[in-house]
Amino acid sequence: MTLTETLRRRLDERRAQNLYRQLKTLDAAPGPRAIVDGRALLTFSSNDYLGLATHPDVIAAQQSGASLGAGTTASHLVNGHLRIHQQLQDTIADVTGREAALVFSSGYMANIGTICALVGRGDNIISDRLNHASLIDGARLSSAASLRFPHNDLDGLERQLERAAQNGGNTLVAVDGVYSMDGDLAPLAQMAELCRKHNAWLMVDEAHGFGTMGGLVGSEQFPLAGSIAAAGLTQDEVPVMMGTLGKAAGNAGAFVAGSRELIDFLVQFARPYIYTTGMPPAVAAGCLVAIDVMQREPERRVRLGRNIEFFRARAAGLELPLAQSASAIQPLLLGCEKKVVTVAAELQERGFLVGAIRPPTVPAGTARLRITLSANHSEAQIEQLLVALAESLRTFPAVTS
Ligand code: PMP
Repeated sequence: MTLTETLRRRLDERRAQNLYRQLKTLDAAPGPRAIVDGRALLTFSSNDYLGLATHPDVIAAQQSGASLGAGTTASHLVNGHLRIHQQLQDTIADVTGREAALVFSSGYMANIGTICALVGRGDNIISDRLNHASLIDGARLSSAASLRFPHNDLDGLERQLERAAQNGGNTLVAVDGVYSMDGDLAPLAQMAELCRKHNAWLMVDEAHGFGTMGGLVGSEQFPLAGSIAAAGLTQDEVPVMMGTLGKAAGNAGAFVAGSRELIDFLVQFARPYIYTTGMPPAVAAGCLVAIDVMQREPERRVRLGRNIEFFRARAAGLELPLAQSASAIQPLLLGCEKKVVTVAAELQERGFLVGAIRPPTVPAGTARLRITLSANHSEAQIEQLLVALAESLRTFPAVTS
């Protein structure tokens, strides 16, 4: 079979399974309204949790940051590390309560680079079954023995820690702080305790926690430091913190924060850091101001918190299939792929963008609508979405017959 024939057959299989992904081309920024095919749609599918992607100060900083050069022209170690990158790293270290930080061009690269630098052949990497793809791919690429435990199951984690001890070598436990498709939190305090007991290193991916969780008990000192701070944990207990700048910071890129030795080590050994062009200086400039806004406008986190509560209370009233999530990610578990695709398409017709999440992103039989809330949504907009959702779900059988 030719390459084209082979690919066509595989694509046809995807379509038949309702798993084919259709790219949407947006004509405008990801604010609460996106323009798709000339129509303004209310977005409930972006990770711009604090509305910073369209913040005028961030955009102005990014524009003037371009005067440092459109690109860095080389990898960080060769010629691509500017003072603005260093400033961003120092700021991230400050706001996360850590000694140092290292900026990567994306969260995907940060996770792969960090895991592969920290563990290899003869070591162990233990992961939650629902970890983000980038943590899973890092575990696969690392050559360490890969052990997994059921989602958020502390007994399962302890069993794998015991197995890892029998295998010998170093052990890294990698989990999401806030699960990207479920919105629930990892029980980090208990996990940190188990890691201490079994001499393992804990790595937490704060892609969805960074900047979104202030106001929770424990996070007063470092309100941007996500679920780690909310659990009252420090650098000693969670030595490897990863966060992204493409979500609450509304921009692009990612960081790892920890001890000076950790960061120095990653500069030497994290290949996706070493062998790639440095983050454009304008992005670093925009991220710096985004973090500044996160600090000086705590009301954005408060508004996000209120929107989450409002959404959950109204959705419960409408008997929608809510998940156990206190975060900005509010999935509605529908199970069936066809239902998810049909309802998401109908919502788009009604003027709303929501994510239709299917396998392999989530386990088979757990397809869902992924609704994400932002500080920029008004209660009226959330109410409109919920009414449209309830109606689309009610009419679903009719839609498919
Ligand atoms: N980790 C998690 C939990 C994520 O949700 C994502 C992004 N979807 C990433 C890592 C990757 O981050 P980035 O988009 O910066 O590559």
